Amino acid sequence: MLVSAKEMLTKAKAGKYAVGQFNINNLEWTKAILLTAQELNSPVILGVSEGAGKYMAGYKTIVGMVNGMLEELKITVPVALHLDHGSYEGCYKCIEAGFSSVMFDGSHYPIEENVAKTTELIGVCNEKGLSLEAEVGSIGGEEDGVVGMGECADPAECKMIADLGVTMLAAGIGNIHGKYPANWQGLSFDTLDAIQQKTGDMPLVLHGGTGIPAEMIQKAISLGVAKINVNTECQLSFAAATRKYIEEGKDLQGKGFDPRKVLAPGFEAIKATVKEKMELFGSVGKA
Ligand SMILES: [Zn+2]
Repeated sequence: MLVSAKEMLTKAKAGKYAVGQFNINNLEWTKAILLTAQELNSPVILGVSEGAGKYMAGYKTIVGMVNGMLEELKITVPVALHLDHGSYEGCYKCIEAGFSSVMFDGSHYPIEENVAKTTELIGVCNEKGLSLEAEVGSIGGEEDGVVGMGECADPAECKMIADLGVTMLAAGIGNIHGKYPANWQGLSFDTLDAIQQKTGDMPLVLHGGTGIPAEMIQKAISLGVAKINVNTECQLSFAAATRKYIEEGKDLQGKGFDPRKVLAPGFEAIKATVKEKMELFGSVGKA
């Protein structure tokens, strides 16, 4: 059964580790992440962007697929199904479809409107036992056509949003979505430290986990990051493994064209990436 992300993140923040959010794109992605979490006895969050939601034929299709896998694959570790960078309308659609967690990305609204909409959604989520993530300060890079500049969040604004009663808070600290450019300045730990001091026990979320050096990830966790989003890294490892299979001509040998064979190396590559991240984040054995 899907669970809210609240309990797993409260434990992670107290235990100084982080739970990975791995974004899904199809059946192979979902199965690879769930099986790895179960093998490593780690809690996990499955992330779904609105674009991926459309691609997978809608939120109800995803809820059906994930719930089916939890049962058929006998997954017993805590799993949250979470809308990533949700719009106001998207949050309501996912709540109705059976997601256990949503992110309301109101960072593009004026702060008053962000506060009003976030407050309303917190009420709905509390009533249904779901977790809600809010974002302060835009996160750089491009995600589903939305381009952010990677500014650092204002710690006072973070406290104001945290005090509304959100479950977890994403704050820009120089992190960006997608691949990091060569001239990237790194994470702003001063900003992160100031945010944690103002928001106390609130689990903080680090978006754009792909390509941040391991020691920066560990330092971020030590300063209160309890959820780390990974998306691009699984896409890169899946694509590289699939490319290798085709370039070696394996699809031309015997029944190598069988889609279950074509997708198998990519599936294993996602599993390896997820394992590496769970080890780095410290969530192994924490289910
Ligand atoms: Zn993000």
